[in-house]
Amino acid sequence: MEKKLKLVEETTAMLIADRIAGLDKEVFSENPIKKIIILRMQPPSEAKRIAYIPEEEAVSNEPEHYVIHNYGLKKIIDQECRKRVILLSESERSKDFIKMTLEEVFIGIAAHEVRHRVQHLLPIEWFSPEHARTIDDPYFRRLIEFRRIIFTSHPPEGNYQREFDAKVIENLVVEKWHYGEKSHSRIAELIKLEPKHLAKAEE
Ligand SMILES: [Zn+2]
Repeated sequence: MEKKLKLVEETTAMLIADRIAGLDKEVFSENPIKKIIILRMQPPSEAKRIAYIPEEEAVSNEPEHYVIHNYGLKKIIDQECRKRVILLSESERSKDFIKMTLEEVFIGIAAHEVRHRVQHLLPIEWFSPEHARTIDDPYFRRLIEFRRIIFTSHPPEGNYQREFDAKVIENLVVEKWHYGEKSHSRIAELIKLEPKHLAKAEE
């Protein structure tokens, strides 16, 4: 029984690693990540379970990499699949609350971590709570306001700005994916999205 559980954990970690590698390669076609490490251990905290580690934060001379801690991973993913998540697109009111499929959970995790690499390597502007006022697009206003409210009651572990921006991208990608946007090149464009790409509201 013990053995079977480990296999499942490892399969889950490998599927997530595969999604991260795929999206990373699509976003950084010239410079795809060279290493994804699966650690057979519990993470130091849930926020660090899956992470992008830049070279300067890596220990023992590792190059930049993504890391996945796989002990307990399956349980966390199962919990994510049971949660109801809100969709913010105007047109789909009746389906506002959905349960995410495994595929949607994986693509959200991958988009979040690859966005962290984008934040680190590309000179982009990050999404922040203020953009709920300055962006014209009503969907993005809702998305940003929603994240601000969630983070007010449940502040993220780590850097607020960095996590705010990555969560906006994660939610965006999951929702677009849910509504059928499954082209990896289009998802890669979303992962590189900046507030300035969206029309500004009249001040
Ligand atoms: Zn994060």
